[in-house]
Amino acid sequence: MNPAHAAAVHAPPGLDRCPLMPTYGAPTTMFVRGAGTELWDAEGGRYLDFLSGLAVTSLGHAHPAVTEALSRQAATLVHTSNLFATEHAAPLATALDRLIGDGAPAGGQVFFANSGAEANECAIKLARRFGGSGLRGLNGQRGLRGPNGMRGRHTVVSALGSFHGRTLATLHATGQPARHEAFQPLPEGFRHVAWLDVDALAAACDPTTVAAVLLESVQGEGGVNPATADYFVAVRRLCDERGILFMVDEVQTGLARTGRWFGFHHLGVVPDVVTLAKALGNGVPIGACWARADVAAAFEPGDHATTFGGNPLAAAAARAVVGELERIDAPARATAQGARLTAALRELPGVIAVRGLGLLLAAELAPGIDAKAVVADALAAGLVVNAVSPSALRLAPPLTVADAEIDEAVAILTTVLSEFPA
Ligand SMILES: *Cc1c(COP(=O)(O)O)cnc(C)c1O
Repeated sequence: MNPAHAAAVHAPPGLDRCPLMPTYGAPTTMFVRGAGTELWDAEGGRYLDFLSGLAVTSLGHAHPAVTEALSRQAATLVHTSNLFATEHAAPLATALDRLIGDGAPAGGQVFFANSGAEANECAIKLARRFGGSGLRGLNGQRGLRGPNGMRGRHTVVSALGSFHGRTLATLHATGQPARHEAFQPLPEGFRHVAWLDVDALAAACDPTTVAAVLLESVQGEGGVNPATADYFVAVRRLCDERGILFMVDEVQTGLARTGRWFGFHHLGVVPDVVTLAKALGNGVPIGACWARADVAAAFEPGDHATTFGGNPLAAAAARAVVGELERIDAPARATAQGARLTAALRELPGVIAVRGLGLLLAAELAPGIDAKAVVADALAAGLVVNAVSPSALRLAPPLTVADAEIDEAVAILTTVLSEFPA
């Protein structure tokens, strides 16, 4: 047993080991309450949350509109399965279609899942179906041979440095080969190319096996690396020329975090498939895969399913989230507060560069400063951020963050960073 895990803050007294699997490091802090940008630990210690549970709680903790929707729905109807229609799923899908169209209907359809990885699994399965895997034969039978034996076009090409999830398929889509080794063999049909390199992508996209390109608009876990419009426009053109789907993973960037409803809105393209999750439920687990209707039509009943996805509780919460994000004009807030935070971070001792969009930011630290050590000191000083790389802090506060809270967080970071040698 790892002794660190026995000592973890959530190991119940008297137990010689933590009852949770050691997939995460041993946490030293337990939060018991939150409100807006603030969190409190069991001793009453107050923290500013500039991580938002990994870009999830965009409306802040315990948002009254979400609490109200959850409480009402919990007392009304939590779950019935997708064998039956429910009150909230279709209106939520309609709202997402409108936001994907940046205010006008985008003409797509939505599958609701429970997480970002599951939203991407749906996208990958849809790409394979659209690419012709298990082609329907003349007599309507399924599972007949497509152009590549049993397989149609099925390969998904993604970028090095990407992150698409932790299930076996989305792990393989994730362009971090070092993370693959412990879990081989991974599902086939994935290929990685250098980020922002159109020629590498063109070389990888043979039109007989490749079904889709899957990219983030800003690589989040990979270090907060925004795509460029030149790159996305070139990818769109390449996909159109070769009949390949362009799928954009907006799990971390979606729903206004970057200052537009979706990150691809900055980049001059319209994708064929969009996945989202993190901010959609403000912490209630829900993911979504949107696809243009003619692409979604590749699915037929029985091709994909979920027991919980989009159930009344999650969908009611997400409807409240989307309504509230629209009411506060969340993209404008992310832009304004992001500009304020970016300007302040650039002035900090030990920060050599700030990158990102809106309120998804990374502060690159001077050589020799260990981001993990800064994160630990910031936590001790009452500020939650994380290390998105060994040398960079990620900041993703709620989109509702107040000017005074930004100033307070920057003051804490100034004190913390001034302890590190310049
Ligand atoms: C977090 C994340 C995922 C995975 O989401 P889970 O809900 O953890 O499965 C996928 N893609 C991106 C871009 C993410 O940031």
